[in-house]
Amino acid sequence: MTDHHHDHHHHDHSELSETDLRVRALESILTEKGYIDPAALDVLIETYESKVGPRNGARVVARAWTDPAFRARLLSDATPAIGELGYAGRQGEHIVAVENTPELHNMVVCTLCSCYPWPVLGLPPVWYKSAPYRAKAVKDPRGVLQDFGFALPATTKIRVWDSTAEIRYFVVPMRPDGTEGWSEDQLAELVTRDSMIGTGLAKRPDEVTR
Ligand code: FE
Repeated sequence: MTDHHHDHHHHDHSELSETDLRVRALESILTEKGYIDPAALDVLIETYESKVGPRNGARVVARAWTDPAFRARLLSDATPAIGELGYAGRQGEHIVAVENTPELHNMVVCTLCSCYPWPVLGLPPVWYKSAPYRAKAVKDPRGVLQDFGFALPATTKIRVWDSTAEIRYFVVPMRPDGTEGWSEDQLAELVTRDSMIGTGLAKRPDEVTR
């Protein structure tokens, strides 16, 4: 069943929405004046949510899969281990890596807002910030996995981690079968953003072209 950790405070929401409002106001002014195309902006944001940002995390996971000493450092203290690969900075001051196994699947949510480990995953996707995800991840994590199109064996326990401004969780997915001897670069291609949030699994070898 679900172990839910919910005893930390989150960042200042009034400040967040203030920034948010300013960004939106600026965006609409610039759009009105014809400086920017909102569709182009959406593409840019989408790219940072799903492509550019999560590539860092994918490198971290691929390193953990191939280097047992690095994996041990990552699981015992993730922030400096991630720093070894050059990834650090805002919204990543205290990252905790949690590892999936056949017995345990980890899923990350921020129940209050949208805390997310920026240095490894980039910008949080829109659904991560949505009220339905934030509520359902806690109440019915297995249902969330179904919504994302997959199921785990009933014997696999699901643990939900509540990210906060202080601690941001990062999932190390299971290494797919059939990848023995793969290089770190090849392995990184299998690591999806959602697999590092726990709402997905790493791709199987037959899902990528080598
Ligand atoms: Fe938050």
